[in-house]
Amino acid sequence: MEDIGHFIGGKRVAGTSGRSQDVMQPMDGTVRGKVALASAAEVRQAVENAKAVQPEWAATNPQRRVRVLMKFLELVHKEYDSLAELLAREHGKTIPDAKGDIQRGLEVVEVCIGAPHMMKGEYTEGAGRGIDVYSMRQPLGVVAGITPFNFPAMIPLWKIAPALACGNAYVLKPSERDPSVPMRIAELFLDAGLPAGVLNVVNGDKVAVDAILDDPDIKAVGFVGSTPIAQYIYGRATASGKRAQCFGGAKNHLIVMPDADMDQTVDALIGAGYGSAGERCMAVSVAVPVGKETADRLVEKLIPRVESLKVGPSTDASADFGPLVTKEALERVKGYVDLGVKEGAKLLVDGRGFTMQGYEDGYYMGGCLFDEVTPDMRIYKEEIFGPVLSVVRANTYEEALKLPNDHEYGNGVAIFTRDGDAARDFAARVEVGMVGVNVPIPVPIAYYTFGGWKASGFGDLNQHGPDAFRFYTKTKTVTSRWPSGVKDGAEFVIPTMR
Ligand code: NAD
Repeated sequence: MEDIGHFIGGKRVAGTSGRSQDVMQPMDGTVRGKVALASAAEVRQAVENAKAVQPEWAATNPQRRVRVLMKFLELVHKEYDSLAELLAREHGKTIPDAKGDIQRGLEVVEVCIGAPHMMKGEYTEGAGRGIDVYSMRQPLGVVAGITPFNFPAMIPLWKIAPALACGNAYVLKPSERDPSVPMRIAELFLDAGLPAGVLNVVNGDKVAVDAILDDPDIKAVGFVGSTPIAQYIYGRATASGKRAQCFGGAKNHLIVMPDADMDQTVDALIGAGYGSAGERCMAVSVAVPVGKETADRLVEKLIPRVESLKVGPSTDASADFGPLVTKEALERVKGYVDLGVKEGAKLLVDGRGFTMQGYEDGYYMGGCLFDEVTPDMRIYKEEIFGPVLSVVRANTYEEALKLPNDHEYGNGVAIFTRDGDAARDFAARVEVGMVGVNVPIPVPIAYYTFGGWKASGFGDLNQHGPDAFRFYTKTKTVTSRWPSGVKDGAEFVIPTMR
């Protein structure tokens, strides 16, 4: 059994709070180790380490800074397989999916190698006689991130890479459910040449999070997790003057137009609905066929596919998806399926009774499929975060469009169609942050930004892409004048360009 402490000042340190929590292996329900839960004093220690070294890191020229990222990429590639296995064992997702988790994180690291370019300011020569104006982007100082269990490599990397590339020091509070990969990431950054103390990991729960939110030396907080916590963190961080971007939960719809290629659509729904056991913020959890005939064709094709989904332990590379992350998560998702039945939805495929032979204590369930779900049902309104797909039938395109537009969440959405007019209209009018046209999980590539609307995202700037460099820097604008021999005397009127 491993004791996981914190990573502070360039080394692993044991927790001193006296509080810890079990880290489980979802595929068989065994305890892998214990993770320390930091006290406010331990968070403060991480912040002090970060604060002490940040000015020197910021003074390191940007190209040298990004060389650390380049070396980091090389080091991760050397241990890709073992890192993916570690991730899969703690999270529950399959090893191929864990590799995808790491890869999507590395793609942001790759884009952050362009940080010296992205941080360049602007310059206007001769804005007035003898007057030049220029702007510069400077790091914020010490910044922090609080991340969820479901992408223990990708989401920390989306935050750490741009923050470090811009010259900030970082304190990461990863999910207490799967802390090992973030800890290893911090070690690999150190091995890649990052000075000790620039990146710290404090493990913990609400106590550590609150200490981060109240620390006056932390200038910005990036959060990803469920909506109630996102709202809480955004409120408390901004109340104390911190910059904050907080991304929350989701309910992602996939609209199926009558002209959609039905086989492609079904493939898309199966992969995006059930991959990673539905524990993705961009998972499709609602299918919206337009018209009765489309709905009937869709459901007929979906049923056998959901029934034949292969559930397996994380180490089985041929499994479609693995167990849920915890026993509580499994019970919560099954509870939602019970609720759907009570609410009057038609349960076409019931995965609640599934047990994995040889892994009876793992947190498994089979795929579930509901038909005739209606917008007033809680299984439609709330995020289930499990392998459950709901079909909500719409009579017309306008009725279908209204569903994601009226929904509380606005993370991702997709339309499957061959009609360019419908697709273009949909992309323009849908009230959701990330849109797919014949693409079921429209997670933007690393050089575009990622972020949901409405209750899926709080704050003005998105993750990765150009917004990341804006979020992790502050702009300073300099107006300079070099009058040669001109004497104006004192000026009492506000200077203008007249
Ligand atoms: P969570 O909200 O339970 O936890 C996220 C983080 O917040 C963790 O680090 C946790 O320790 C901390 N936390 C939990 N409770 C807290 C509290 N009361 N006070 C302060 N901090 C607290 O989320 P999760 O279960 O780890 O992740 C799943 C959720 O994340 C889903 O809702 C999913 O949609 C969402 N998510 C969103 C995105 C996105 O980009 N929008 C991406 C991934 C996951």
